[in-house]
Amino acid sequence: MCNQKLILIPTFTVMKADSKVAIFPGSFDPLTLGHLDIVQRALPLFDEIIVAVGVNNQKKYLFSLEHRLDMLEAVFSDMPQVRVDHFKGLTVNYCKEQGADYLLRGIRSSGDFDYEKTISQLNHVIGDDLETVFLITRPEYSYISSTIVREIIKGGGDVSSFVPSALHSMLEI
Ligand code: ADP
Repeated sequence: MCNQKLILIPTFTVMKADSKVAIFPGSFDPLTLGHLDIVQRALPLFDEIIVAVGVNNQKKYLFSLEHRLDMLEAVFSDMPQVRVDHFKGLTVNYCKEQGADYLLRGIRSSGDFDYEKTISQLNHVIGDDLETVFLITRPEYSYISSTIVREIIKGGGDVSSFVPSALHSMLEI
């Protein structure tokens, strides 16, 4: 008979004072394979990535905030470096609150670039040198957008090629 005692050692994630925290802000209505790919590729660059749903009361969403957060939790539950959250108001204020020095954004096209360039320059000024890190989309995801996915869902089509498998059963409206 084995009389060895099982000793359970609790593990804690301790964030260093100088840890690199990035916020990946978006509507994620819903999250797509394009979003997921950006987060996965950014993991080696940061100690923590906060995938944060920006709440804009003027905007109409297909999925409720609660459901979008549930979907994000389902997708990122196996990535300890990733935290899911939401925020209201200016992204720069949220970054300060979270101690994040970096914003993460994806670029699909020259249209994305022109828009993101202006926002990034503004955020750099009003966000005390907040830096935006851009990752260019993989070619196979460059045509995927939440807008297209929403339209297909509304039309009763199959979006399983565009969203992570964890969401396949969560996209009914
Ligand atoms: P927003 O409402 O801020 O545009 P989105 O949820 O649409 O939020 O997008 C969040 C971020 O993800 C943006 O930086 C956007 O450019 C990026 N993104 C969206 N779709 C893709 C994709 N297919 N490939 C790479 N990046 C993407």
